[in-house]
This record gives sequence, structure tokens and C-alpha cells, in this order.
Amino acid sequence: MPYSQFLKYLGEQKIASVALVGDRIEGVLRNMPKDHPSHFSAIKVEDPTLSQRLLQADVRFEAVHENTLWRDVLVWLGPALLMLGFWWFIMGRAGRAQGEFLSLGKSKAKVYVERDLKIRFSDVAGISEAKSEIQELVQFLKDPSKSNRLGGRMPKGVLLVGPPGTGKTLLARAVAGEAQVPFFSINGSEFVEMFVGVGAARVRDLFEQARSQAPCIIFIDELDALGKARGLAALGGGGNDEKEQTLNQLLAELDGFDPSQGVVLLAATNRPEVLDPALLRSGRFDRQVVIDKPDRKGREEILKIHFKGVQVADVVNTQKIAALTAGFSGADLANLVNEAAMVATRRGADKVEDSDFTAGIERIVGGLERKSKVLLPEEKKRVAYHEMGHVVVSFALDRDEAIHKVSIIPRGVGALGYTMRRPIEDRYIVDRDELERRMAALLGGRASENIFFKEVSTGAADDLDRATDMARAMVTRYGMSESLGLLTYDRETSPFLNGGGFGRSHDYSEATAQIIDRETRDIVNQAFYRAARTVKQYRAFVEQGVQMLLEHETLDESQLQTLWTKVNRETAPELRPVEVIQTTEQRKQLV
Ligand code: ADP
Ligand code: MG
Ligand code: ZN
Repeated sequence: MPYSQFLKYLGEQKIASVALVGDRIEGVLRNMPKDHPSHFSAIKVEDPTLSQRLLQADVRFEAVHENTLWRDVLVWLGPALLMLGFWWFIMGRAGRAQGEFLSLGKSKAKVYVERDLKIRFSDVAGISEAKSEIQELVQFLKDPSKSNRLGGRMPKGVLLVGPPGTGKTLLARAVAGEAQVPFFSINGSEFVEMFVGVGAARVRDLFEQARSQAPCIIFIDELDALGKARGLAALGGGGNDEKEQTLNQLLAELDGFDPSQGVVLLAATNRPEVLDPALLRSGRFDRQVVIDKPDRKGREEILKIHFKGVQVADVVNTQKIAALTAGFSGADLANLVNEAAMVATRRGADKVEDSDFTAGIERIVGGLERKSKVLLPEEKKRVAYHEMGHVVVSFALDRDEAIHKVSIIPRGVGALGYTMRRPIEDRYIVDRDELERRMAALLGGRASENIFFKEVSTGAADDLDRATDMARAMVTRYGMSESLGLLTYDRETSPFLNGGGFGRSHDYSEATAQIIDRETRDIVNQAFYRAARTVKQYRAFVEQGVQMLLEHETLDESQLQTLWTKVNRETAPELRPVEVIQTTEQRKQLV
């Protein structure tokens, strides 16, 4: 109650007793109505006459010593406690963050385990040797206890080596699918973390998990990202402790790894040459299975596999498509089937046909057609003569490649026209004569421009590049130059022999360099004169071909073949072999 009320009650004799506690007055009332509380409390105002009044009113009163210990303690400690609490809060959060940080290796490890894979060996084609080598792994996974019949031990790790898109990942998954075991896979690049130690923890984790689920497969894709040779990694700017630790952990796991537990280790790389030799040592990845780009028969089989997913017309000639796709990998072929299906859809057909595949190949090899790019009539004519130059030399000289199609529709980034070749059969060794014919065919475009326009243009830069490369290789790598002999002058060096340096070594004298240049120039020139002579000899074919090209923009193999036979019958040029031109006099006559 307010102090004034207290004084009023005091005057009315309604206060029975009070206790003075600090500056508070607490007391008991008397003669109050029933519902009024009997106790009160009021805050004392500065009043020196209070004791006097209480005495006069005959109120029993006393002062009670207030126990302020706890309050005082709180007053002093409160702020400190608050500070402490705050600090705890902050540290707690930091601690949690740190905990997360430390468990990165565990929680975030992208160890993908797949079970019941649906992929089988029958989904992989064109790499039969690799497949049969891998087959025994399946036997082993199905019954790990059965040791090798002749007592040999299983290889610890199998490394699949081959260019991108040849089906390495696919094959590894097929092994798991055939054996019906879990498939643990991780990408080499995922191991490479910013924080030292995390990658190593992941490796440990991966092997631990796999061991607990044997029989199973561990597959490390793109092993080169992880197992780059130590010296090389330093050169590539990526040399860091992290990679080193991760690699060391992997090596340690490989050493402590017992294949009889039923865990098969597979890895894939397209750059075996950069792998750390320690990884390839026996007892680690001690078996390598090479997966190459498919040959023609392989391409046919792969195409058939991918045909399953699309509506392909019965008349489609798989053989022909396979022949047109030399150098395509399995992934390229899968992409081609997809591309062809898209072309067919766009044209509103309900089956994919031969022409769709050809269009798909052209798109993949040459880029999109750019009909919108308009060539001046004069440019168009020049492009037509250029392309027919390639065609005529190929027809007359080249025995290994046929012309599949020639076109003067601009395509891709730089090409104004193009000539599409088709190898008649897969070739792995090319002899000198064939190299020279191919070079002549490459230079046919320039030769034709030269003959029909007198003025040369920039249109042949790409052809010249390629011809130069070929000639240079003949001189410096294949030992085809008489004055330079059988030495090779342009060796690709192994990084391990050469102190970790990449690239080519040039260990010949300045004088030799001059001879190399001269020989290279001679070979290119010879090829050019040969091309020019051929163009002149079959001039009628070129001119009629140009007319047809200007009209139709594209000519295919059969149209060209018909024209070739017709022109040869009409003009009957002496079909003597084109001689090599030796003297300057002869050259001058020619162009
Ligand atoms: P890599 O791992 O060698 O780079 P992938 O195994 O990832 O190549 O192949 C990519 C895709 O290309 C596969 O999913 C498959 O569709 C197709 N492919 C590649 N090679 C083959 C092959 N030999 N047989 C069938 N399809 C293949
Ligand atoms: Mg792969
Ligand atoms: Zn050209």
C-alpha cells in the first residue's frame, strides 16, 4: 500500500504490528472487513517521526535484519555469469561447426552403393577381349571361397584403361550386375578435397564399408584425378599435401587388402601414363585391361544395342553406318542414335531411317548446318571448286578412303564447305605411299583453287595445317626421309624419364632442324604438285561436279561415282599413274 494509506491506517488504529525490513514496512492489520487481506507491505519514505508515531499508536514494531547475501552475490556475479553464458553459447556453436568439419570425411563421403544393377555383359559390345578378361572376376565374386583352380592368386586390382566413352564405367557396372553384388563407386576427383586429411578419411571409409559387405565391388572412376604421379601433380600446380595423403592412404589400403575376402577392386582411367608408378606396382593395380575404340564390327554391335531404345526402320543399314563412323567411341555411337532419333522426330517420321543417321553423323562431326549464312555467288563458286578438288584427287589417287558426301553448305564454326570421307576399311598401319596420296587429297582443294582462279585464298588454311603435320611426322617420327635416316627427331617423352617434364624433347642440332624443315617442305610440295596435276588431268570431272554442286549444294557417293564413270568414259583421259614431278620446269608448266 502507499505510505499515505499506511499512515491513514495507523491513525485509525488498524495496524497490529510491523516489521521494518530495509526500506520496507511489513505488517499485520486488525479490525478489517472479512475480504480485506490482513497483511500489508509498504515502502518507507524518509520519515524521522515514524518510530514516534508507531509508539503513540501502540503498535508493536521491530527492525528485521535483511539477509542480502544472495542478492549481493548476484549483483556482483550476475554480469560475470552472463558473460560466461554468452561465451559458452558461442563456443558451443563453434564446437558444433568444428564437429561437422571433422566428420566431413564421414558424412559427406559420396560413397555410392548400388544393388541389383540391371546392366549385364550383353549390354556391352565391341570390346570382347576386355569382356572375357573380366569374366573370371564374376566367377570369383559369385563364389569367393573357391580359390583359383591352379592356385594362382586373384589380381588385387584391375585397371581399365582406354579413351573416354569406350565403356569402362559400363563394363565395371556390368560385372556387378552379372555377379549380383553391391557396387561401391566413387570418382577420383571426389577424393580431392580442400582440407588435408578429408580425402584420406574417405578412402578409409570406402574400404571399411565395402569390407563389411563382401562380396562386392569397389570401383574408382577417373583414377588419374587421384593417382597423378607426385612429381607431375607438383608441375600441374595441384601438388598439395591433400592429394599426397589421399594417395598414400589408398596405397596403404591396397596393401592391407586381401582379395580372398571377396572384394574386387576395379578402377578406370583414360590417362594411364600420368598415374603414379606406385599404384601400378605388382600387388596393387597389377592387372590392366585395355579397352580400345571399337572397330567396324564392334561399332555395328554397339549400334544394335542402342537401337533397342528407339524405333528404327528395318531397312536401316547398320553396316554402312558402322563404316561411316570410324573413330567413334561407344558413347559417340549412343549419342548418334539419339541424335538420329531427334532428327527423325523433327521431320515427323515414325521410324528412324538411314538418312537420319547420316544427318546425325554430319551434325556430330561437322557441327550444325548454317543455312542462314549466305555466301556471295563468287565465294560459293570458289568453295565448290575447292571441295571438288578434294574429291577429284581422292577419286583418282586415294585407295583407302571413299568420298561419302561433298557439300557447300557452311557448317560449324569455320567450314564453308566440306568433304566427308569414309575409310573403306579400318587401317592401323599406313604406308608411305598412302600417306602421300592422302596428303595430295588434302591439298587438292588448294590446287583446284590455284588452277581455276589463279588467285589463292585463305580457305585452305586448315588443309595446309593437316598436311604439314603429316609431312612433319613422316620426317621426324616415321623415319621416311632419306637424308635424315631412321632416327626419330620428335619423341614424346615419358614424364618419368625426363625429370618430370612433359612434352617433346629436341635433341638435335640447328643444322638438323634446317634439314627437317626442308624435307617437310619438300614432301608437302610434292604432294601439292601431284594434286595439281591430278586436278588438271580430270578437269572435266571437276567442272561438271562444280556445276552440280552449285545446283544441288550436296552430292553423295553414288552421284559422284556416276559422274566419275561418265566423265571418264566421255573424255577417256589416259589413265596412266600420276607421276611425281621433279623439275622446276614441269612445276611451272603445271600451275
Ligand atoms: P567411359 O567410362 O569409358 O568413359 P562409359 O562407360 O561412361 O564410358 O560410356 C558411356 C556410354 O556410352 C554408356 O553408358 C553406353 O551407353 C555407351 N557405350 C560406351 N561403350 C559402349 C559399349 N562398348 N557398348 C555399348 N554401349 C557403350
Ligand atoms: Mg567413365
Ligand atoms: Zn579443304
